[in-house]
Amino acid sequence: VVDVSSERDLEQLISSRPARGLIARGQGHSYGDAAQRAGGLVAELTGLKRMVHFDPVVGTVTVEAGMTLGELMRAVVPSGWLPAVLPGTRFVTIGAAIASDVHGRNQHHDGSFADHVLGMRICTPSGIVDVTPDTSPELFWATAGGMGLTGVIVQATLALTRIETAQMRTVSNRAGDLDQVLALLTDADRQYRYSAAWIDGLARGRALGRGVVIRGNHATRAEMAELSDELSFSPLPSVSAPRPLTYVTRHMSRMVNETVFRRSAAQRTRYESLHAFFHTHDRLDLFRLFAPEGCVEYHFVVPFGEAEVVRQTIERMSRTHQPPFISIIKRFGSQNRGPLSFPMAGWMGVCDFRPTAELPRLLHELDELVAQAGGRIFLAKDARTRPDALRAMYPKLEDWREIRGRADPDGVMRSDLAERLGLV
Ligand SMILES: Cc1cc2nc3c(=O)[nH]c(=O)nc-3n(C[C@H](O)[C@H](O)[C@H](O)COP(=O)(O)OP(=O)(O)OC[C@H]3O[C@@H](n4cnc5c(N)ncnc54)[C@H](O)[C@@H]3O)c2cc1C
Repeated sequence: VVDVSSERDLEQLISSRPARGLIARGQGHSYGDAAQRAGGLVAELTGLKRMVHFDPVVGTVTVEAGMTLGELMRAVVPSGWLPAVLPGTRFVTIGAAIASDVHGRNQHHDGSFADHVLGMRICTPSGIVDVTPDTSPELFWATAGGMGLTGVIVQATLALTRIETAQMRTVSNRAGDLDQVLALLTDADRQYRYSAAWIDGLARGRALGRGVVIRGNHATRAEMAELSDELSFSPLPSVSAPRPLTYVTRHMSRMVNETVFRRSAAQRTRYESLHAFFHTHDRLDLFRLFAPEGCVEYHFVVPFGEAEVVRQTIERMSRTHQPPFISIIKRFGSQNRGPLSFPMAGWMGVCDFRPTAELPRLLHELDELVAQAGGRIFLAKDARTRPDALRAMYPKLEDWREIRGRADPDGVMRSDLAERLGLV
């Protein structure tokens, strides 16, 4: 792992053409092997995190790729701006947010991260290039969601979202089964910028897929009139989990889920800070929580006509010895032009499991179900899918390979994920 602190360092590193290749790493928070290169070089970019330019009138910012979304929020929220897309943790770098084309709870309304990138500078093995969606659409979109395999993003210019306050107005509804969850989420599209549902992975029978649907919009200044500083933003530090989840039994999970479900009102409106709404995960030290065996997350999307796949997925999961302890469903809006970009119009599902001996077989079955339905899994979370499944899930893979080949003719950019899946 090599720390990179300047564009020049990066150029030299890439032009040295390391024998087993090179890949960029931000915070290293992708779940699988996307930011790893066994025997090769990993260029760690967290030292490259200057804000190059911020225009608080228009709401655009140019930053170096190693800056995290949390650092960007601290810099721009007090001026009334927010990164347009926020994933479930603020410890994600801008470079990785583009390379994984990350999504948030507003995907149905605002698209994914790359949709708000006005331009970027990429250090490719063929040289440094400045690209925009208009001037170099092919390389731009092959890099958005391209998992670092077209080159290293050095800096990017982003369009921000205007906010009046650093508070969210949220509405949560308890939903008794999967149909109700899907109906509430569909209804939310029109009125709410943000929406997602928590699903009780342990519920079965008529209650299968029951959950709590949470929707939200930015609170206005008029709503927050009593606050002295309505744009103050100070995320709380993470706290250590009291004990690893290993000690949590199925019985305890059932009790927790039952309590969460019963305590949620039929409908409840409240105000929450940006931090509480977007980054609840960051309050807990997840690494300790999942110690020592870790956690497996299955993250997929299927087209709207295929809601039955969501039902079957939940059903199969709930039947396993270790059903998921966290499951989320969300409606995605249309997909962008990135051939490897994950979001597509349809139902997205995320399930977190403790690893068990039976899990690999179940996940391969789910891959088949998802691929047959015309859906796909998220590469930023992958550590185990097979090349044939991936080809079925990403039909524009060959177009992407061709564009990548022009940016990196000698195949310098490679990660363990890329080799495992035959991407390069
Ligand atoms: C708790 C948690 C919640 C999450 N929630 C969401 C969510 O809601 N939505 C979502 O979309 N994702 C989510 N993720 C996934 C996360 O957004 C991605 O894995 C993201 O890529 C991690 O950022 P990172 O800086 O740690 O990247 P890394 O893991 O370091 O790298 C990820 C990929 O980006 C590439 N990369 C990194 N920097 C650059 C660069 N400068 N140039 C080119 N390529 C680069 C790497 O090569 C690698 O392929 C979540 C992850 C966690 C841990």
